Amino acid sequence: LFISFEGGDGAGKTTQISLLQQYLVAERTVDEDLVLVTREPGGTELGSRIRQLVLHGDHVDERAEALLYAADRAHHIATVVRPHLARGGLVLSDRYLDSSVAYQGTGRALDGEQITALNLWATSGLLPDRTILLDLPPESLGERREAGSLDRLEQEGLEFHEEVRRSFLELAEHEPERFVVIDGSLPREEIHSRVLAAIAPELAR
Ligand code: C5P
Ligand code: MG
Repeated sequence: LFISFEGGDGAGKTTQISLLQQYLVAERTVDEDLVLVTREPGGTELGSRIRQLVLHGDHVDERAEALLYAADRAHHIATVVRPHLARGGLVLSDRYLDSSVAYQGTGRALDGEQITALNLWATSGLLPDRTILLDLPPESLGERREAGSLDRLEQEGLEFHEEVRRSFLELAEHEPERFVVIDGSLPREEIHSRVLAAIAPELAR
């Protein structure tokens, strides 16, 4: 079972993934070693190097950037995610290909359909069983903005992040059977129970 978490920067993906992991393990819903928490970019050693390059290096041409995210993803899916799924495991991924459509497609104004095609090629067509979209207006990056701890993408202007948000919502609208949209401004316990409700039918299978 493959679940991806999507949403803008600071939407609470990481927090919700760890709440979900703790819950599933504590409730023994899933065997501990069958739960894999991972992320993109950076879910592999090669991926961490790519992450460093795209997020903390100098300017990267936007097509090169799209290819680097796709390369990270190809390696991550082939060497980590697919093997785990093949053993019957549960994969919780902090971002997946929808992030590329939103950030490289819409944010960077590359063609979203080409980005989708590129990433489906990169992953041999792997789509998540469920995608949880934590939706939040980008203003909320404010606190971290002031703390000066933002990576290269997070430093983009408000308009960029608004485009990204719109793109995520559009993707969700086009694939309502895969996506579950949750209001990221709700209290975290409320978000957590909605996440659980969203994946319960999948877990029961
Ligand atoms: O979610 P996380 O903080 O790990 O994401 C790292 C950064 O990479 C974020 O600033 C996000 O905007 C950016 N990103 C991107 N395109 C992707 C995935 C992430 O621009 N496909
Ligand atoms: Mg971030």
